[in-house]
Amino acid sequence: MQKKFLFYSDFNCPFCFALNERILMLGDSAKVLWRGIEHMPAASSKHATLVDQTQLINEVGVVRKRAPEVALVTPAFRPKTALANALIWKLAFQLDSSRPLSELRTLIYRAYWQDGGDISNPEVLRELCSQVALEYPEEGFEIAAEPELAQWQQQWQGEQFHCRLPAMLSEEQGKPLLGFPTYDLLSGFFSGSDLPQLPESLATCELRPKQSLLLIGAGIEQRCDVTELRAAYQIEVVAGVEEAQIWHRAQSCLPDMILIDHMSLGALGLQYCSALRTDPVHRNTVLIVLLAAPDQALELAGFDAGATDVMFDLTNPKICQARLDLQLRMKRSAVLLAALARLDYLTELPNRREFDRMLEAEWLRSRREGVALSVVLIDIDHFKLYNDNYGHSQGDDCLRQVARAMAKCLRRPADLLARYGGEEFVAVLPETDAEGAAVVAETLIQAVRDVELTHAYSLAAEFVTISAGVASMVPSNDATPRALSEQADRALYEAKESGRNRVCVARVCASKQGG
Ligand code: GH3
Ligand code: MG
Ligand code: MG
Repeated sequence: MQKKFLFYSDFNCPFCFALNERILMLGDSAKVLWRGIEHMPAASSKHATLVDQTQLINEVGVVRKRAPEVALVTPAFRPKTALANALIWKLAFQLDSSRPLSELRTLIYRAYWQDGGDISNPEVLRELCSQVALEYPEEGFEIAAEPELAQWQQQWQGEQFHCRLPAMLSEEQGKPLLGFPTYDLLSGFFSGSDLPQLPESLATCELRPKQSLLLIGAGIEQRCDVTELRAAYQIEVVAGVEEAQIWHRAQSCLPDMILIDHMSLGALGLQYCSALRTDPVHRNTVLIVLLAAPDQALELAGFDAGATDVMFDLTNPKICQARLDLQLRMKRSAVLLAALARLDYLTELPNRREFDRMLEAEWLRSRREGVALSVVLIDIDHFKLYNDNYGHSQGDDCLRQVARAMAKCLRRPADLLARYGGEEFVAVLPETDAEGAAVVAETLIQAVRDVELTHAYSLAAEFVTISAGVASMVPSNDATPRALSEQADRALYEAKESGRNRVCVARVCASKQGG
């Protein structure tokens, strides 16, 4: 079959991994021509900072939510993938059939995303080759591959994909598919139908190695060296506020930074800065007001308008880049630290703080809309006996597995599953009544049971089980989110009292389960 689609993909990107799995499931892998590129050329398996880790956990979390059918773990590091890319490149020349290559590619992906292996290690790659009866090439192939890999890298970093992954190009129509689509969209793309513009949530993974800058103002090119900046960033220049608005509407991704040239835009520029800052979509966008010369009154006006910083004289490209980089780094750290503060590190689920925040927000929304809101409180049965007998480390592992099994059950985007504390979890189910929430709770119980984690010391069953308490209400002025949680807590107590491994709905003990 003729190859029709170019897949610019990186082994260390969970979105590309999941997309590869989906292509396999669709049975369309023969149509796809692989182009291995490096998402993050600076990646290394030798060290992973807290920020790297947080990023990985976040990306994996998004993939788990969007592709619950794809099993993946969170690796402890992000390996460099140049060697694996060169290996595939080299073997492609030696083989008549693409099948073993596709198998090897999948093995490499899985070695990292399912087993946490270091796929930058030649020995690991050699072993994977032997599993599909392929011979690991002689030394030097990575050097031979370099020109072509560099060319693919450039194509991907070029205008067409805006440095977004996963990226796939239909050769016939020249149309790209950017991001991580649903099965329907993916199979539509393969059959040549028009793709609708994907919403931001589907259009991209969070990482863009080249950060994107929007420069607004007719004279901005005189005030900073745009040609130099293009080497470091994805740059878009528009002449005025109106053009910027049009540009924004046409994009499915937000720029990381917006530079507003005060000299050419004057008060209109400050007004636009202020409008952007109050738009929740731009909460994390770096906004820079660029002045023609130092002017304290204008500097203050810029900060009043919500600018992240006010700058002048960016004519020296090195100083310009250093200043902009500093702001971009600070933005990135702030976003990641905020994400870190929402996560429970053991289970990688949202933590108690995030639960409190979400419950409050959903409570207000449900009250406004007059719809039911449900809370399910979940507790592992006889977990102390599990810990006491199998040890804390296995106890931690059990918590992770229980969390993962339950996370797969919640399919609606607004549903939230969080770690409440210790061996307790909580689900918030917006627009769900007691009956619906009880069904979800039963699914959670079944999902945990299906993992079949042996618990020989449990008095409820031979495997690890959970109990769940469900509470539901249409929020009103006389009730509080806390009251809803307390009802769920009482229902959970009832579930425990009546034998564990079951669901109780607040007030009525609704369901019983055997062991
Ligand atoms: P019940 O069925 O009534 O819920 O009994 P239980 O043993 O599960 O409840 P109990 O509250 O007596 O014990 C909870 C145990 O959970 C105590 C503690 O050792 C364990 N635990 C809490 N947090 C963690 C954790 O982060 N890791 C591990 N390994 N264990 C934890
Ligand atoms: Mg407990
Ligand atoms: Mg317990």
